[in-house]
Amino acid sequence: MTSDVISSKELSKVDPVFGQLSFDNHEQIVFCNDKDTGLKAIIGIHNTVLGPALGGTRMWNYNNEWEALNDVLRLSRGMTFKSAITGLNLGGGKAVIIGDAKTQKTPELMRKFGEFVHSLSGRYITAEDVGMATEDMDTVREVTPYVTGISESKGGAGNPSPITAYGVFMGMKAAAKFKYGSDILEDKSVFVQGIGHVGESLVEHLMNEGARVTIADINQERLEEVRAKYDVTIYGGQDIYSEPMDIYAPCALGATINDDTINKLQAYIIAGAANNQLADEVKHGKMLQDKGILYAPDFLINAGGIINVYAELENYDKQEIIRKTENIYNTTLEILDRAKANNLTTNTAALSIAKERIETRKREQGK
Ligand code: NAD
Repeated sequence: MTSDVISSKELSKVDPVFGQLSFDNHEQIVFCNDKDTGLKAIIGIHNTVLGPALGGTRMWNYNNEWEALNDVLRLSRGMTFKSAITGLNLGGGKAVIIGDAKTQKTPELMRKFGEFVHSLSGRYITAEDVGMATEDMDTVREVTPYVTGISESKGGAGNPSPITAYGVFMGMKAAAKFKYGSDILEDKSVFVQGIGHVGESLVEHLMNEGARVTIADINQERLEEVRAKYDVTIYGGQDIYSEPMDIYAPCALGATINDDTINKLQAYIIAGAANNQLADEVKHGKMLQDKGILYAPDFLINAGGIINVYAELENYDKQEIIRKTENIYNTTLEILDRAKANNLTTNTAALSIAKERIETRKREQGK
């Protein structure tokens, strides 16, 4: 259907991209289509002041294109602030491929996607996200150098998920230190929601520390696999958000902290890997603050993965990756202190530091 057959009044209601709620002055949004491979993808470049926009590619069976667009807008924005707060010289970007990763992902589709990434000449650099594996990044590497997270055997830094999990663990410990005065998680009850690449690795750290871990996932097989390895409890109830717990660790998808769940939540701390955990960062950040639930901002504590892939661009080694990831502990404590001192939500405190760094760089660039 073209604008010839839609009245201008109807069209004006739509504001398809720049009018989206999740649109936040993104620099560039690229829609990619390839009939032969069935590729339908959107690349979002939010901000490149600090450097090229780096962020993973997610393949997900979205209900419709609006969902995909909103996801890429929210995720790419999150990457800008994640890299800024972590002190990396990277901008924020992300890509989504619309489709079922289990049945529709083919090497041809990944190569075609890589060609679109290449066409942006390095303004966007891709990596792994939900629905992607290291081998997929190796396939993309066949057609473009603008990809990170490739196999160690091919000169890359490998799977970023264990490092992400380690960073989340550091952030969680810092939040515990702030809340309880001690960062020891022994005997704390922790609910890990989503035990994929990051979730399982987080479970391992928690078990080593002696935490009491409950796991939840929509994939029953994963639950059984993880229980076979660790002394964890599989959540058997109806509503995880109503359970008493010390720490809620969202490690599946975003927006699980919303009007509905905050009213029920009885956790003391929220610290997990999922991106965009707050459905509305201002409103829900405030609701958590009012309820006395300490929220460790997602983009701050899940930065281990980007630290890992950044090593491929900057050529630093595993030791440096670990050192930078451990520093998430200190940064988290600083931000929690700053939030308390200024009566800000923790999310706002973290965002303000990230934005300051971008503004400073802009001034240096004379923009
Ligand atoms: P993954 O695909 O390996 O795992 C996600 C898991 O969540 C799967 O086991 C899936 O079955 C489960 N899941 C999906 N919906 C669920 C629901 N409603 N309830 C319970 N479980 C559900 O993904 P991952 O790489 O482990 O990433 C997890 C989250 O962390 C994502 O939000 C991702 O964007 C974020 N993240 C990942 C990295 C990384 O290095 N992989 C880095 C930063 C952020």
